[in-house]
Amino acid sequence: MPGGWAIRKRVERGVIMRCEQRCEHCTLNLHGESPRVHHIKPLEDGGAHTLANLIVLCPNCSWKLKNGDIDQATLKQIIDEKELENTRINNLAAREIDEWFISLDNTVIYLV
Ligand SMILES: [Zn+2]
Repeated sequence: MPGGWAIRKRVERGVIMRCEQRCEHCTLNLHGESPRVHHIKPLEDGGAHTLANLIVLCPNCSWKLKNGDIDQATLKQIIDEKELENTRINNLAAREIDEWFISLDNTVIYLV
């Protein structure tokens, strides 16, 4: 991937900001949880490492997705609607999100 690590971290930071600390599928508050960042369309199927193709899920929704109980089209629709109102991201309390991201960075973001 061109740009490698820096671009990857920037995209992950963007998706973490967009989720507003909630599962983007069931809206569970992710404080105290280990969020999973999924590619909606898997990379091996030609999916891109972009905000439009990434979704933050709680452990339960992550499991459901892997198990086939949530389909790609449902997740794509959620993210397409969010990306339409993407400018909201600029209005978030940046410091609070930064602190959350840093604390996440010290734990694990599961990128699957
Ligand atoms: Zn969830």
